[in-house]
Amino acid sequence: MSRLSHSLSDFVLRQIRNHFVGPDQSWVFRPPPSDWSPQPAERTSIYLHVPFCRHFCPYCPYTKIPFDKSLLEPYTTAAIAEVDWWADRIGPAAITSIYIGGGTPTLATDSVERVLSRVRQRFRVNGDICIETNPSDVDSETVKRLRAMGVSLVSLGVQSFREEMLTLLGRDYLPIAADRALGLLADAGFLSINADLMFALPGQSSLDVTSDLARAAQLGASQLTTYPLFTFPYSKVGKYLNLKSVRMPDLGTRRAHYRAINEWTAGHNFERVSVWGYKKGTVPRYSSVTRGSYIGIGPGAGSLLADGFVLNTFDFNSWSEQTTGGRTALALRLPFDAKMSGWWWLYWRLYDTRIPLDELDQALAGDAPKARRWLKIFEQAGLAVRRNGFFELTEAGAFWLHLAQNYFALNYVNQLWTQAGLDPWPQAITI
Ligand code: SF4
Repeated sequence: MSRLSHSLSDFVLRQIRNHFVGPDQSWVFRPPPSDWSPQPAERTSIYLHVPFCRHFCPYCPYTKIPFDKSLLEPYTTAAIAEVDWWADRIGPAAITSIYIGGGTPTLATDSVERVLSRVRQRFRVNGDICIETNPSDVDSETVKRLRAMGVSLVSLGVQSFREEMLTLLGRDYLPIAADRALGLLADAGFLSINADLMFALPGQSSLDVTSDLARAAQLGASQLTTYPLFTFPYSKVGKYLNLKSVRMPDLGTRRAHYRAINEWTAGHNFERVSVWGYKKGTVPRYSSVTRGSYIGIGPGAGSLLADGFVLNTFDFNSWSEQTTGGRTALALRLPFDAKMSGWWWLYWRLYDTRIPLDELDQALAGDAPKARRWLKIFEQAGLAVRRNGFFELTEAGAFWLHLAQNYFALNYVNQLWTQAGLDPWPQAITI
């Protein structure tokens, strides 16, 4: 992107956020003030970040480090200390869900088990435990361990059942490994099994996409999460794909794939539960990003609190030195004003593709009429319908609104993560 189009895009994004959130909300992440502390909480959720990967996928934007067995003990000690840090401040809150992501959590099942045990000692856990898994690491022993530690929802990062797509993505397994892993998970009795599948991959057809959906469903996936290859500017994907002389699919292809996914899932009794997610029957929904509040454990983990968003240092050594010394690993904080909290709520309800109208007035308070005006415009444009007390995005609405959301979010995530990845303790990051 040229400097001019970059400035223009920044200008447009600033106008949009000013229109919705207003001029009083700060957009500068800074270190939390020395006298700041999280407030006691009645209930929240936990995100545990396990940063290890045996193999780095070139498109991946997440905070990760190469797997090294000798780091498991320091990681576990530091994560347990961080659980204690939060519990000492927010109190014995009810934990309504635990999400274990990464990285590759199944490379560190002992660590995960020990951290979960401390979470149960310090909090009141009464929700589901969800974990991300990778086809390379799922064997019968791992599955047994996950069941024993109380994991109820599991997600497998299949991405594709086609070997050439896995090669293109730099994944380190063959389709047969994904088949086997999904079969083992399906036989183990988890409440929900999600399969992550990618679309809009170079050279992929709509038929390839729906064949992948069919294969995952046939192997026992009760939820299908499909997402396009995000071209995060700070991941190596652009460079990687250019080097391989492949052309990314255009917007029309991406649109056609999304339509095919919606048609296939609707025809096979999968209900859309988010922009990318479809679940079957009454199984609980597997989701990583839509909690109202959560505390993050691990390097680079974020926490969403009543008064804003805080982010741990991304640097493993800095994170572990701080938490094992009983100090905070929080490097950055963005306080939310009341308006921002309301619009943040609406942002995630748009991601869910369903907005409960009875909650909208309370969530947005004085901004509710403005939100309703916009929802009306979406309705008139065929992007949404009102149904049973909800404002539901249509298939076209889900596609176009999320494309806009995606652009907005990637722009900010890019700025924040790039700088936080370069400097363990940044003084200020303006987004
Ligand atoms: S996609 Fe998953 S396995 Fe690949 S580098 Fe990222 S976190 Fe690791």
